[in-house]
Amino acid sequence: MSRLTPGNGSPDPGEGALVPGQPDADLHWLRQAIELSRRCPPSASAFSVGAVLVSDEGAVIATGYSRELDPKDHAEEVALARAAAVALSGATMYSSLEPCLHRASRPRSCAELIIEAGIGRVVIAWLEPPLFAAGGGAAALRRAGVTVDEIPWLAELARSVNAHLWRGLTPNQN
Ligand SMILES: [Zn+2]
Repeated sequence: MSRLTPGNGSPDPGEGALVPGQPDADLHWLRQAIELSRRCPPSASAFSVGAVLVSDEGAVIATGYSRELDPKDHAEEVALARAAAVALSGATMYSSLEPCLHRASRPRSCAELIIEAGIGRVVIAWLEPPLFAAGGGAAALRRAGVTVDEIPWLAELARSVNAHLWRGLTPNQN
């Protein structure tokens, strides 16, 4: 990972910047997830999300982003489908947004899929705002024994990819 001068005054402290109490690897992988979210096909009625599934040894197992293969795809779901044959108990799911709990387009929410996959830890940049569906994914994961860490330093960066959603809202097609 590259190292830049810390403390450049932007909302994102910058790759390699020191954030008190936050492991460097978490910042690195969460930034990768946010970068992936920029590839999402545009939608006026769903969030653009990126997800990176990382092993306990720090290797990328799989990635995904919203609408990557199908218009209904969620980022975490795409990554999990690609990791179907892998044991994930030591893995961490980095997602640019809180995994969904309520979902209209498919029977399983991402929170349920993460719990079923046996993933022990999820790291997110921000909680899902109630634009299209109620949030609650992080709380559901924690109730199931999954560690959920939120990194608010990167929330602004993750939100900026979705800035268009606050203009011209349309009904729920989540
Ligand atoms: Zn989802």
